[in-house]
Amino acid sequence: MTERVRCLIIGSGPAGYTAAIYTGRANLNPVLYEGIQPGGQLTITTEVENFPGYPEGIGGTELMDDLRKQAERFGVDIRSGIATKADLSQAPYKITIDDEKVIEADTVIISTGATAKYLGLEDEQKYAGMGVSACATCDGFFYRKKVVAVVGGGDTACEEAIYLAGLASKVYLIVRKPYLRASQIMQDRVMNNPKIEVLFEHNTVGLFGENGVEGAHVVKRMGEADEERYDIAIDGFFLAIGHKPNSDIFKEWIDTDEVGYIITEGATPRTKVPGVFAAGDVADPHYRQAITAAASGCKAAIEAERYLSEHNL
Ligand code: NDP
Repeated sequence: MTERVRCLIIGSGPAGYTAAIYTGRANLNPVLYEGIQPGGQLTITTEVENFPGYPEGIGGTELMDDLRKQAERFGVDIRSGIATKADLSQAPYKITIDDEKVIEADTVIISTGATAKYLGLEDEQKYAGMGVSACATCDGFFYRKKVVAVVGGGDTACEEAIYLAGLASKVYLIVRKPYLRASQIMQDRVMNNPKIEVLFEHNTVGLFGENGVEGAHVVKRMGEADEERYDIAIDGFFLAIGHKPNSDIFKEWIDTDEVGYIITEGATPRTKVPGVFAAGDVADPHYRQAITAAASGCKAAIEAERYLSEHNL
């Protein structure tokens, strides 16, 4: 079962939907597959207060519903389904959906996003949206003058701890090793911030609370065999242990960095395969914001339009 389309968009976060709005409006008859998490990462956050145009803020799910409706208005064919295989060896490019249907596309916009890593505790799911978050810039504002914990020892964890220290009354940084992996400048900023307490050689084993997170059960490693278990009182629990870009099926054809982020040409969304573009978090280890993802989706759409007209497709 094969179908030919001029523009295939994979993923339904801000990048995918913005690409859909632009390509739909340009009459490219785009087809968009929603992917694993329809609406993307914003649907697992609560309130979005920093997306321009919403002075009162907007719910993450509501924002994504609006973007979807805007794409539908321009005739975008939005389908549920997951891209499971890609063959970008020659145009038209072949993308397999749900292991069965093959789409042949003249242009492909990869906007499959990145997935925040979690520790794998049951309590992380139990308190999702009730004190557990993987994005300090998204949710930190709700913890003004409260106590929060950040897990991780890399640059992201340090950055998030510093950001949260500007809002919260106290920040625990829970680090599993006896040292931070972050760059020296970030380490210095963390160690010199009086609101941040670093808990080295600590692991979180559970969360507790009646109506949302009220604390964490932590374990401190003491030497080779010994450990101490105790509880810390917190209102928010932030994961910053890395993201996994959803780029696996494309890696054979396009360049990615060591983590898996797609490498594009400079500030453009062009990959090394002509007509294949990457937008949003799958190609952005740095900013990871809804608005920057939306902007790159717009760029990818304009590139796709130009490519099609240059190739008379
Ligand atoms: P990193 O992979 O650099 O760090 C992840 C951290 O999470 C590590 O400290 C790691 O511990 C810890 N971790 C991983 N799994 C677990 C677990 N199961 N339990 C507890 N801790 C865990 O990811 P980042 O997101 O911090 O950074 C990704 C890349 O982006 C890096 O190259 C970074 O330098 C870059 N970056 C740069 C920034 C900047 O320049 N301003 C800002 C943000 C990111 P361990 O050390 O023990 O492995």
